[in-house]
Amino acid sequence: MYHQASWDEPLLIERSHPGKIGHLPTLPSELEKKTVGETSRLVPASLRRRGPPPLPELSEPEVIRHFIRLSQENYSPDLGIYPLGSCTMKYNPKSSELAVQTPKLEKLHPEQDESTVQGMLALMFNLERILAEITGMSRMTLQPAAGAHGEYLGCLIMRAFHRSMRELDKRIEMIVPDSAHGTNPASAAMAGFKVIVVPSNSDGRVDLDALANVAGPRTAGLMITNPNTLGIFEKDILEIAEVIHNAGGLLYYDGANFNPLLGKVRPGDMGFDIVHLNLHKTFATPHGGGGPGAGPVGVTKALERFLPIPLIEFDGKKYSYNYHLPDSIGKIREFFGNVGILVRAYAYILNLGSDGLKVVAETSVLNTNYVLSRVMASGLYELPFARERKHEFVLSAKSLSGQGVRAMDLAKRMLDHGVHAPTTYFPQIVDEALMIEAPETESLQDLDLLVDTLISVYREAQTSPETVKSAPHSTSVGRIDDVKASHPKTLTLHWSIRSSESRGSDAS
Ligand SMILES: *Cc1c(COP(=O)(O)O)cnc(C)c1O
Repeated sequence: MYHQASWDEPLLIERSHPGKIGHLPTLPSELEKKTVGETSRLVPASLRRRGPPPLPELSEPEVIRHFIRLSQENYSPDLGIYPLGSCTMKYNPKSSELAVQTPKLEKLHPEQDESTVQGMLALMFNLERILAEITGMSRMTLQPAAGAHGEYLGCLIMRAFHRSMRELDKRIEMIVPDSAHGTNPASAAMAGFKVIVVPSNSDGRVDLDALANVAGPRTAGLMITNPNTLGIFEKDILEIAEVIHNAGGLLYYDGANFNPLLGKVRPGDMGFDIVHLNLHKTFATPHGGGGPGAGPVGVTKALERFLPIPLIEFDGKKYSYNYHLPDSIGKIREFFGNVGILVRAYAYILNLGSDGLKVVAETSVLNTNYVLSRVMASGLYELPFARERKHEFVLSAKSLSGQGVRAMDLAKRMLDHGVHAPTTYFPQIVDEALMIEAPETESLQDLDLLVDTLISVYREAQTSPETVKSAPHSTSVGRIDDVKASHPKTLTLHWSIRSSESRGSDAS
């Protein structure tokens, strides 16, 4: 059992005791005087503080205990299975963390002259080559900070392409399947396109007739993920590509679901023109609290000239920045993206090798299908659409409507079993959706824990629905009002000092 912290956990500043010091001065003051002199001299009097800032004053153990307590209120892939479908929350190997924990990297500055950062440029150049090989693309940019950022860049590249064909005025429509992740239509709309939704057929795949009906001279492109968000492989992808290309559009691959295809199939060979990868999903780098991530974007030879600047080139002797790309859409992010994430992904790929990446894909499909088979054998949940799934599947909890229990209630009750909840209510084409992904890094014991939990919460919902509807019961924070939590008028994030001993009591 871990420490039960509470919603009212005091802030560091509230634990502060004036005069307490938890560290040794880093620079001996004599040395400081010799090197930089009296620093306060350098700041104009009008800008100098009149007193010291109201920082918390605590001992080292107090600070450490505070953060460890907070970390125990959280859940992460370092603590247990995290079956959040579509997000690929796999374990982040510590060898990748070691790769970034070096002063050689920490002390690099992006404004350094290229002659002094040859090693970093070599790494980014090699990573680009590897990712291009894995996806079947010609060149990649490593700049985008996330999948959605990559999608937006992909849309800008489509615009640049259609402009170069003098067709931008009429190619105003972006087609997305109704199973698409919300970021696809959002990115397309942000880039100025009108979103056209194409329905799924009874298998859960893109309806080819419906696609043929909407594709035409107004089509800028199609954004699609494969396998789709139901975990179903779009086996007609070559035909889909043909329909879009014949209409004069481009094909965008949302690589968030690339995990089960690693080393098996390449989006380039499926007919895609633009691809993004989510390094924080497929390549096991941390997701962070909404970032930082990395969403490198690859393109075919014909679209290379639109990529963001700079590209990194190698002439056989040295690496250099190439800013000379007159048709480039410009820059999509300052400097070179989240370099620390790129290094972790590079370490991950080199550690596994091409054979290891294939094992990742196979094991992710195997693990997910093991969970799916056991859940289906229980006869409790419904599985809308085709049975065959890759790395994820979407159950429906609709059959519990008689008890008044919803997917959200089951998800919350799962937390009481020490298991992270699946993704809920997505994709929207499944009623009361529970979207489950069991990545390759999970053990058989954890997969069984997930299945046993899914079965147990369902059975409990049949016999004592009230217990499920009021869950979670054993977490440090109970059921959160998610409408309140996401509404700017009701969500209050400021804090105020409660302890009279604390300094800076005017802060709030
Ligand atoms: C996660 C995800 C995205 C968005 O990627 P981010 O890196 O979170 O911006 C897009 N499409 C699908 C299918 C996803 O699962």
